[in-house]
Amino acid sequence: MISDGKPNEKIVWSFCNVNCGSRCPLRLHVKDGKVVRVETDHTGDAEFGAHEIRACLRGRGLRKWVYSPERLLYPLIRTGKRGEGKFERISWYEALDRISDKLGQVINIHGNEAVFRIYGTGNLGGVVSGREQIDRLMNLLGGQLNHYNSYSTAQITHGMHYTYGTHDCGNPLTDMVNSRLVVFFGNNPAETRMSGGGSIRDLVVSRQKSGVCIIVIDPRYTDTAAAFADEWIPIRPGTDAALVSGLAYILITENLVDQDFLDRYCVGYDRRTMPAGIPPGNSYKDYIMGSGPDGTPKTPAWAAAITGVPAERIVRLAREIGTAKPAYIAQGWGPQRHANGEQTARAICMLPILTGNVGIAGGNCGGREAPDGIPFPRIPVGQNPVTASIPCFLWTKAIADHENFTDMSDGLKGKRRLETPIKFLWSFASNTLVNQHSDIGRTHRILADEGLCEMIVLIDNVMTASARYADIVLPGTSCFEESDLAYQGYAVEMGVLILREQAIEPLGECRTLYDICADIARRMGVAQAFTEGRTHDQWVEYMYQQCRKVRRDLPKDFEEAVRTGLFKWKRGERPKAGLQAFREDPDTSQLDTPSGRIEIFSRRLWDLARSWKLPEGDVISALPEYHDTWGMPADPCSREYPLQLVGHHGKQRTHSSYGNNPWLREAVPQSLWINPLDAAARGIIHGDMVHVHNPLGRTEVRAKVTPRIMPGVLSLSQGAWYVPYANGVDKNGCINTLTSQRPSPLAKGNPQHTNLVEVGKVRG
Ligand code: SF4
Repeated sequence: MISDGKPNEKIVWSFCNVNCGSRCPLRLHVKDGKVVRVETDHTGDAEFGAHEIRACLRGRGLRKWVYSPERLLYPLIRTGKRGEGKFERISWYEALDRISDKLGQVINIHGNEAVFRIYGTGNLGGVVSGREQIDRLMNLLGGQLNHYNSYSTAQITHGMHYTYGTHDCGNPLTDMVNSRLVVFFGNNPAETRMSGGGSIRDLVVSRQKSGVCIIVIDPRYTDTAAAFADEWIPIRPGTDAALVSGLAYILITENLVDQDFLDRYCVGYDRRTMPAGIPPGNSYKDYIMGSGPDGTPKTPAWAAAITGVPAERIVRLAREIGTAKPAYIAQGWGPQRHANGEQTARAICMLPILTGNVGIAGGNCGGREAPDGIPFPRIPVGQNPVTASIPCFLWTKAIADHENFTDMSDGLKGKRRLETPIKFLWSFASNTLVNQHSDIGRTHRILADEGLCEMIVLIDNVMTASARYADIVLPGTSCFEESDLAYQGYAVEMGVLILREQAIEPLGECRTLYDICADIARRMGVAQAFTEGRTHDQWVEYMYQQCRKVRRDLPKDFEEAVRTGLFKWKRGERPKAGLQAFREDPDTSQLDTPSGRIEIFSRRLWDLARSWKLPEGDVISALPEYHDTWGMPADPCSREYPLQLVGHHGKQRTHSSYGNNPWLREAVPQSLWINPLDAAARGIIHGDMVHVHNPLGRTEVRAKVTPRIMPGVLSLSQGAWYVPYANGVDKNGCINTLTSQRPSPLAKGNPQHTNLVEVGKVRG
């Protein structure tokens, strides 16, 4: 507790724990049992200058979430159809009895593989209050179906693993001070990693120090482009790999590639380093120069026709990249979140590889900046006895079509084929059940069939769009109502530990996730193993003491630590460059690829392309090539739906978290970004209510007519809550009414930015 509040007011530390790329400390002012004000961190530190971890409006507006009309206060049981939103109040006793009975029944009849915790990141930061509690419970009960990937990063993670053997090989943004040029492909920290503790701070500080030239390549003139870039190069969505190929053509023909680097560190650039047994003509150089199977030289003119970037700009950019040493080339997570996203991610990595900018100060591997987690302990979850694991994006297929869910077609791991469908779903702090999953119409049809998934248990703070589809809704405590601790390490030079004090009594009958799981554990005979004799608060203290094993200078006395609440420290000297050891000695510090080298040509992908079953039009290729895919201008659907639609991260929500806060909706209204040329062609003016539609669905939203989006492309900020009319048409600008559940070829990831649509004015 902090003691500088007004009379009769106490101030306690808390933190905002949504999935925004930061973890902001908050100062909660409590009066008469109510949080009356939320303040941000105001603790500068001489050692760090004025490095306060300033929360954004979303965190500062948390009262509108906790005290909202949508707040869940009591356990509810569904009385109408799934999605209708009809519920009645039941007791905790009855709710937990029903859940335990059904869980036991499903395990007995179908096995533990029939139980699944759906992906969700609405409560990401809390160590004790996080989703791990459900995993801990399920592991004690024989396990549950595993999942891998994330909705945000599946394609880049896979792409980089095949190239580098890891996706964790970037240089920190602070290393920009050593760069001569920065090129961002869709990298947008100003909107996706806000706060004084996020990557945006590293960008601000580094830019101020170095004044380095920054070029942003993106279909949208993002806040990062507006605030930091010397130049914005608009590009058609999903075509970054074509741009890279056009750039590579100039780098090769003008002798700007680092041949020594390619020979010593890489596999597959030209015939000198091709793996044995691969027919001639399959090297990267062959692909670029047109001596490969497609016979097409990837000239700037070829790339210009695909990307919309003028050929002369491609030539100039190639020369800039080829001559600025070192160059920091990075991509965000937008370019890869496409139907051909793995190819895009690998292709962008080719620019630093071709120019030898990998593993050196001021360079980067072509992925995102170095992530900088702090190696503190997490709650122990035990071992999941179930080996089967699905890509997290394919859970609807695991409910509706498990017989055809295989390792060769769907990325199933640990098994050849799913033996049982999902029958029991856990959903904690997740709006993925409906809102954040693609193709809401199809998801609705699958969930509406109660013969498929037999029970959906959802635990959250508010009645979200997804909660309306649950069978039992349990009211969870918010970050005002529970103690916890969290670590913050996104801004690279500072580590932070925040101890959250419970500020107010739980509203209504809200309970912590831990207490909910402990009560189910009790009903199912594993109480002692689950709790280990601790309460929620005792687990917080226990986990704090585990942290002290990592940082000995934290106070021994827990009460004293809670009184302080917020700890910041300067982080030690860390490697400036990802893959630095490999760069210094590739023989003793080999990469985790089969060859130990950077694999421009991947034999594993060569083999996968010949063994996996892919839908027509999907491509896995051994080289980082450009491939047209469905949902792009060459798709026949584009005749009727000529506009490409992408999503972006708006500042009014974190994904869908806080989507019901009227302050935030007013500050950043949900709107469809449309270029003046496309708007004029359809008679649309700024502020018009428009409908966006394709064969999957339709949504209505206000038009934002702006040159900040390139012609032929629309953008909707993702995460708006699905609010349907009776006919299922959404009236709130929810992008997932229009997105597809067809996964990307290799990672089986979410292709949320690959969409063709048409837009028109709502009449009347
Ligand atoms: S949404 Fe992110 S940046 Fe905003 S207050 Fe919460 S943690 Fe901080």
